[in-house]
Amino acid sequence: MSETRQSTGWNLLLPKISRQNKVLGSTYNAPCNYWIDVKIESLIISNDFITMKTKPGNFIKYAHCTDTVYYQFILKVIAIFFIGLVLIPVLAFSILDKEKTENKFKTEFRFKNYYDEAGNRKPNPEPQQIYGPVYSVGPLTVCAYLVKTELGLIMFDAGYDKDGSLIPDNIRKLGMNPKDVKKIFITHWHGDHSSGSARLSDISDTDILIHKDDLDIVKERVFTKDYMVPAKDRIVPLEDGEIFNFGDVQVKVIHTPGQTPGEVVYLLTVSGPQGKCHALVAGDATAMKSTVEEIEPNKFHGIVQAYEKTVGILKSLEFDLYLGGHPHQVFKEMREDGNPFVTREQWHRMVDNRNQQKIDFLVKHPEYINY
Ligand SMILES: [Zn+2]
Repeated sequence: MSETRQSTGWNLLLPKISRQNKVLGSTYNAPCNYWIDVKIESLIISNDFITMKTKPGNFIKYAHCTDTVYYQFILKVIAIFFIGLVLIPVLAFSILDKEKTENKFKTEFRFKNYYDEAGNRKPNPEPQQIYGPVYSVGPLTVCAYLVKTELGLIMFDAGYDKDGSLIPDNIRKLGMNPKDVKKIFITHWHGDHSSGSARLSDISDTDILIHKDDLDIVKERVFTKDYMVPAKDRIVPLEDGEIFNFGDVQVKVIHTPGQTPGEVVYLLTVSGPQGKCHALVAGDATAMKSTVEEIEPNKFHGIVQAYEKTVGILKSLEFDLYLGGHPHQVFKEMREDGNPFVTREQWHRMVDNRNQQKIDFLVKHPEYINY
């Protein structure tokens, strides 16, 4: 089947058929039934197309390609379309996604399991640098963090009072002086996080900062030794949204009630070998207590509604370094390897699981919903 058309003088674009295409005098011959019977002014051969220019008024006579050639041409077009619009975006997305799952920040530090392979409880860990100015100085099962700033040392949670001089000794082991602690930030009133602050405050003669809604509890309640209240005149109440600057380390207070009424998380900006990063000192903000025994000493008016709001706040936080209240929050619930640098997905999964525990608890104990 062939056609004849009058050339308008414009470029004529044809699929390139094979390497054997030849220009013979004024005729362009192709083995696939293409032939063009004109004077060719110019000819450009690219990988897939042949562009020819002819004089206006010349006749171009050509035949349709065989089905096979058309078929190959269409396949090529589909392949180009697929690579350009599907494959490249998919590959690019998977590379970006990989970056998301593999945090760019690196550390040797790991949150470790409390038991060894034989099932024996491990001893308290040695103090260790986590990232840049952030160090772990706490006992085995509860976290306490030391941050070295241009304006002195600051602490986040202070472990148990019953651990005695463990934290001051750990600070000394790192070559620093516990007397240089300028502030002790507490995530919530529970004794495993707060009671060690009394001793540290005595050594360093510094303030203990706790959210105002937990301060009331601290003042009202009588505590066992584990829940010993630090010297009261050293306690300074915190408000949601307060920001503290210690040189290039910034600390933001975010009120996240649920486990206790004055539970807070601290969002930190710190610099280390891979640059500036955001760290979240999270305490136990992800957990509303989920047994009656646990919730009774912790309940407060509007606890469920407060926790629901907190879940939303927690999920909106952007950070890389997770500094939780207990090591198992990482090795059990986010990253088996205990690496404290977590992704948004790992963080959301943990918050969602904790939230689900609360929902399951309320199904069995609806009396707490409107407590
Ligand atoms: Zn705790």
